[in-house]
Amino acid sequence: METNPKTGKQFLDSVNTMLRQTSADLKLEERYPGHQLVERMIIPDRVVSFRISLQRDNGAIDVLTAYRVQNNNFRGPYKGGIRWHHRVDLAEVQALAALMTIKCAVVGLPLGGAKGGVAIPEGRVYSVPERERLSRKYVEGLVHDLGPKKDIPAPDVNTDAQAMAWMADHYGKFTGESITAAFTGKPLSMGGSQGRAEATGVGVIMALERHAHHKHLELKGKTLAIQGFGNVGSHAALKAHSETGMKVTHVSNEFGCVFQDEGLDIPALMKWVAQNGQKALIKFPDGQECKEDILSADTDVLCLAALENAVTADNVGCIRAPIVIEGANGPLTAEADALAVKAGLDIVPDILANAGGVTVSYFEMVQNENQDRWTREYVLERLRGIMNNAYDDLREAARKHKCTLRRAAFLKAVDEIAAACDLRGAQ
Ligand code: NAD
Repeated sequence: METNPKTGKQFLDSVNTMLRQTSADLKLEERYPGHQLVERMIIPDRVVSFRISLQRDNGAIDVLTAYRVQNNNFRGPYKGGIRWHHRVDLAEVQALAALMTIKCAVVGLPLGGAKGGVAIPEGRVYSVPERERLSRKYVEGLVHDLGPKKDIPAPDVNTDAQAMAWMADHYGKFTGESITAAFTGKPLSMGGSQGRAEATGVGVIMALERHAHHKHLELKGKTLAIQGFGNVGSHAALKAHSETGMKVTHVSNEFGCVFQDEGLDIPALMKWVAQNGQKALIKFPDGQECKEDILSADTDVLCLAALENAVTADNVGCIRAPIVIEGANGPLTAEADALAVKAGLDIVPDILANAGGVTVSYFEMVQNENQDRWTREYVLERLRGIMNNAYDDLREAARKHKCTLRRAAFLKAVDEIAAACDLRGAQ
């Protein structure tokens, strides 16, 4: 199994540096002397790591390392997705868990932060029965740590509604209760919410629309390039294509990039990838394979919706779009972010832009708790309200502190988390 510990460590270092800087800016040590608030935000409440022996269909066993990091629950139960990827390591999961705590505070959800992951061998594609066994084994390793009032996982990279269905089912078998609220991002027929599957990508474009509104910028006719065509990237592309009048000219995934100057037919591209797999993206009949990396696409907006650290100090200079919106978590390294800001790029940060997923997950929890069902229209209307309010708060804070939206988001979130931590006392 190949992993890249450097990537996860670099990501965690960036997040922790940001937390320390923000705590210093907020003078937390002076305001709460001796309370060690920054350490209590950085060191997770709990780290669970365990082995999964996964039986393959051919009888062979894959020995996998699984993680769940519960960053903190000062503002509410732990919440965060589960990722299956060859790059998963403890540092990566720890960084993502901390970002979840920050994100929930940025959009004002009464939740803390967590993240889970399983490091799978590079290039391994599991069959449906193998994915089911992996989902169930993951829950077995964590059954005492999860629950609707404790820690509620959701989908992330390479996991989906079906994986959540198996996990919720298995959790119910262990607890003896039908507790669907222990997982979100479930299929509709198992208590999932309308609008959850597309919520993150839709929320990305809602954040972009609000950004454009504040900048007096007309999105209609503007061009968009999207890195990553999975759950987040494809739904962001679809909303941009069908509801904003933007032209999605470039789309990439781990196998390459396609473009169409007149704008790609996104519903057709989604259908093509669903039928033929991610590898076939570059063979889309109505597009051409890009000659350059998508970062160099000459568009008005670039949406980064793949993985963390996609943009580093080495390639940030390739970005030509003046506006960058982060659908992925941590797509720019700290160094790249500093260089991008210096170069005048206008960045809508991940902890705001991709908060649509956790927001609709929260709606799912509320519906499950109340045995209720909301319409898609109602879900999207509430999501729009939350995204707009969060954006407006950050824009105002950025104006007041003369800082970037990312800095404003950290200032708001860390201040709120610190206050909750202090009120709870030395736990
Ligand atoms: P996914 O597995 O559905 O899709 C990932 C996409 O990224 C795929 O198209 C893959 O081919 C592509 N990709 C991987 N490596 C790449 C590379 N080097 N260059 C270009 N493309 C590459 O995952 P997802 O759920 O869409 O998540 C994407 C990002 O968004 C992650 O950072 C995730 O943490 C974040 N996110 C997801 C959600 C959610 O609800 N799914 C919510 C918030 C944030």
